Amino acid sequence: MAAPDISAGAMTLSLAGRVVLITGAASGIGRASALACGQAGATVAVNHLGRADEAAEVVALLQSRGVHAQAFEADVTRAADVTRMVADVERELGPIGALLNNAGIIDDRPFLETTEEQWDRMLNTDLKSVFLMCRAVLPGMVLRGEGVIVNIASDLGVLGREQFAPYCAAKAGVIGLTRSLAREFAPRIRVNAVAPGPVATAMLSTEHMSAEWIEKELDIPQHRFAAPDEIAATVLFLMSDLSRFYCGQVLGPNGGSVMP
Ligand code: NAD
Repeated sequence: MAAPDISAGAMTLSLAGRVVLITGAASGIGRASALACGQAGATVAVNHLGRADEAAEVVALLQSRGVHAQAFEADVTRAADVTRMVADVERELGPIGALLNNAGIIDDRPFLETTEEQWDRMLNTDLKSVFLMCRAVLPGMVLRGEGVIVNIASDLGVLGREQFAPYCAAKAGVIGLTRSLAREFAPRIRVNAVAPGPVATAMLSTEHMSAEWIEKELDIPQHRFAAPDEIAATVLFLMSDLSRFYCGQVLGPNGGSVMP
């Protein structure tokens, strides 16, 4: 293979001219990432499941800032939904240049009380969805010879945590999948992951989150939750040319919970 030209061009955070598809973008980290990508000049496809009003609000906010954006409903655990959504996005907005696999759920319960159904629901939502989305988007990226994928994992995928075995297993799986795809599709397509620590989103204010759990989560050097924007900043970096030598990396905006 010819040596790449490593002297070329200015490196910027700009995503101008790029279509970015973000799963679970009606709330939390996905919403913040949609706004950040739009701010950086991307056209934004806002995926949601059953949250039309919130997705429409994200789209309206982007449009008020002059960003081309559209909402697309799909359940990312279902192959048929994913295939249809990717076709719809490419027909409506153009070829997908960047994908953020962000949709996810969390659940906590003692491992011995975990049913097969609960295990499947977690693994389908937090891991299989990443497989389905990548499988749908990568053929176009390969044809065009370029593309960026960012997957949202979690510090718990590295640390493990009692009462969160299925979530931790799914997020560890996201890291393994990220590294495998990064190797298989380099150098033209870059695949990286973000493994946040605790972030102040709806996910952490569900009935599943006990006061004890939150206290334990705050046992990190920065002793606070992240704002969704702080995670979106890492997503934006990994989507931009500034990170063009990043391949199969797991970046950790986590307040110091993991120090590899
Ligand atoms: P959130 O609940 O606001 O966002 C998750 C989004 O995914 C929601 O909008 C939800 O509707 C969507 N979603 C769930 N299942 C879906 C499906 N089948 N199809 C399409 N969309 C679906 O919470 P968040 O904190 O913004 O979570 C975003 C990601 O960040 C998740 O993958 C989560 O595991 C990860 N994460 C969160 C934290 C945290 O502390 N909040 C920490 C580390 C990682």
